[in-house]
Amino acid sequence: MNHVGIINFKKIQRISPSQFLSMKNCAYKSLLAEAMNKKALLPVSANAYYGTVLHKMLELISKGQIRSENDFNTTFQEQIILMEKKLISDGYDFFVPLQKRVKDFIMKKILLKDHLRNVSERPMRASDTKFHSERWFESKDKVIGGKIDLVIEKEELTEILDFKTGAITQDVLDDDGEVSSDIKAEYKEQLKLYAYLFFENTGRFPTQLSLVDLAKQKFIVPFSENECKAIFEEAKLLLRSTNSCIDRGTFTANPKETNCRYCLYRPACSFYLKHIETDNSFNDVSGSIQNVIKFQNGNVSLYLESGDKTFTVSNFPSERFDELNSGRNKKIHVFNLKRESREFFYSAIKTTMIYE
Ligand code: SF4
Repeated sequence: MNHVGIINFKKIQRISPSQFLSMKNCAYKSLLAEAMNKKALLPVSANAYYGTVLHKMLELISKGQIRSENDFNTTFQEQIILMEKKLISDGYDFFVPLQKRVKDFIMKKILLKDHLRNVSERPMRASDTKFHSERWFESKDKVIGGKIDLVIEKEELTEILDFKTGAITQDVLDDDGEVSSDIKAEYKEQLKLYAYLFFENTGRFPTQLSLVDLAKQKFIVPFSENECKAIFEEAKLLLRSTNSCIDRGTFTANPKETNCRYCLYRPACSFYLKHIETDNSFNDVSGSIQNVIKFQNGNVSLYLESGDKTFTVSNFPSERFDELNSGRNKKIHVFNLKRESREFFYSAIKTTMIYE
């Protein structure tokens, strides 16, 4: 079983535009991430790890370090192997090989390869257009900083582009109750923060903020200078107030579905663990081990008691029997379960993890 250990909170020195909204939604998550040196306590998904590889490839393509199909194929293979080695060393070998675990693996690779054309069509030395890839921008006081994927400058026009390997938009309900598609709020705020960082460093605002997806669709984020400044100030204030929790020694969190479902620090979050004692809508359960049964087919079921409820978690492999059985009456937390149709029934899956 895994242990979180003692949590030594540390002040966050810098906030990046890409983490701003997540911090705004639950600053405690950012504090836990900092305390854990950004080492996640739970696995993400094969898609997310593949997304990291795709983004790295986009970065190399946009820097002009990959210009031919040959370069592309070699580097892609290298990046996949690197990621798979990391997954194995983190104990997440069930995600390897990624090609078998990721939906649309090949399709995404083909879409990615198509980005090569942008670079090969980009003149090596354009007289009136400048491309700056992966350039670091930070505020004067260094508390907000991040790398901008691409800045394109042409005469009076300056465009900031950020590449995304997943969906850029999501369905939202408008005031009339109609469903429409809109750019995700976190991406809008991220780009507006980049715009302000660009202004702090150059004395001028960009003229366009754009998001580009794997299929090379471009989404323009409207913005005003005042809006960018307001978000920038808000981010600084948020960082200060988050760090002040450490001085005061009092913390608050915001446990709710949209914040916690993908939070990789759930095992360390006492607020969340308390929350799931009464809210059973998550795929995690907590309770004391009341019984452990090994069936003839080798599958192991675990029975957890929590208040007046009993959770049944089936489908553990037989190798886990001794460990679970010796932990009777111990309180444990089981994460990443599959919910069964019967209430309080769950199954363990490859990504399931147990913390004491
Ligand atoms: S589990 Fe939820 S409440 Fe706890 S830190 Fe993560 S997002 Fe915040």
